Amino acid sequence: MEHLYTGFKCTLCEEEFSISSMKQDSDFTTCPICGEKGILDVQYDYKKIKNYLTKETLAKNEDKSIWRYIHLLPVKDIPDKEMLKVGNTPLYKANRLSEFLGVKEFYIKDDGLNPTGSLKDRASIIAVAKALEEDIKTICCSSTGNAASSLAGNAAKAGVNTLIFVPERVPDGKLAQLIVYGSNVVKVQGDYKKAYDMSKLAIDTYGYYNRNAAINPYLVEGKKTVVYEICEDLDFNVPDWIVVSVGDGCSVGGVYKGLYDFKQIGLIDRIPKILGVQASGCNPFEEAFRTGEEMKIMDENTIADSIAVGIPRNPVKGMNAIINSNGKYVAVTDTEISEGKLLLGKYEGVFAEPASSASVAGYIKALKEGIIKGDESVVIINTGNGLKDTKGALINVEIPTPVEPNMEQLNLIVERMNKNGKS
Ligand SMILES: *Cc1c(COP(=O)(O)O)cnc(C)c1O
Ligand SMILES: [Zn+2]
Repeated sequence: MEHLYTGFKCTLCEEEFSISSMKQDSDFTTCPICGEKGILDVQYDYKKIKNYLTKETLAKNEDKSIWRYIHLLPVKDIPDKEMLKVGNTPLYKANRLSEFLGVKEFYIKDDGLNPTGSLKDRASIIAVAKALEEDIKTICCSSTGNAASSLAGNAAKAGVNTLIFVPERVPDGKLAQLIVYGSNVVKVQGDYKKAYDMSKLAIDTYGYYNRNAAINPYLVEGKKTVVYEICEDLDFNVPDWIVVSVGDGCSVGGVYKGLYDFKQIGLIDRIPKILGVQASGCNPFEEAFRTGEEMKIMDENTIADSIAVGIPRNPVKGMNAIINSNGKYVAVTDTEISEGKLLLGKYEGVFAEPASSASVAGYIKALKEGIIKGDESVVIINTGNGLKDTKGALINVEIPTPVEPNMEQLNLIVERMNKNGKS
């Protein structure tokens, strides 16, 4: 197959670099002029892609995994190794929660149903595909949890070795995944910033393949497939808003890029507004957006570990996604995040991890503040599965205490249940 990604454009200096001038695709990962801050954006030949990727070819394509979008992905071909089946997650019309919130049209894209339980699978599978392409034996990353567990799972299936650095506060569920998927896992003393520095040291010293999402420009390209699926499921009638939680800024950058791609090739006619949601205990994007000042380094004080990122590694893409889509940033408290989690569970049967229920909390906040109107259509992306962090799920909830196993207790329980009624 002729590949249709053509090169990179630096998000800082806007210099372009063509792939054909490189020995291999990962000759460099960040801009050779700007250094590590010069995050690159992959460029495509949209004119040609238009011919391959149409509503008709998509309708006929029986491959429901992310490889159905191969023409818009930065790999040479669909890997010939068997990979985990990433993507094709359900889009639910959130009827019950819509009624509760008094809104007209609201959907949930449940990306927690990816093979390792998060949207990160869409990025990790690209990292593994690139490592296979370039015959690299070890992939290295640092992560708040999901990038690591998804890398470990996707690499395990493809037979690639992984070295992974996580912060001390990584939830047990995610740590368990790493161990079970057979990764070489290192718990680093301190927060995510420390884990990141350690991975950088390993990559610089030993030349491992870099799966740090911001630094490796290919990974956002995987994440963008989440919006391709949303567009297809809505028959290319895009919603007014897409809501997603933000840590490093790669996911929201991917959401924007996916919409941009589909608009370029004429599959959609406009780009929805994007609402970026952060935790108020760690909100560098939201604060910089609100104040118009430079982004500040922040402490990581929130139960939403997956978006607790004190130094976002993809500041330009994360900010431009909101600015270019005419969207907004909001921040939500841990209490609001917990309430959002219970609403998703109770009304929609979706179990979200805290970083993920932040998105519904952000939607509710945006409704209250009049940023989003009740008659506007909205898709929120559920980025991670709640089973990964059951400790986080049990914060701010009533835990049942053991009862004596007898008829009297049962009568009491039924009485109380009937009194509370069904809602
Ligand atoms: C990584 C992650 C995010 C945020 O993605 P960034 O690219 O870090 O902004 C949101 N939710 C979950 C569950 C995640 O794992
Ligand atoms: Zn540059």
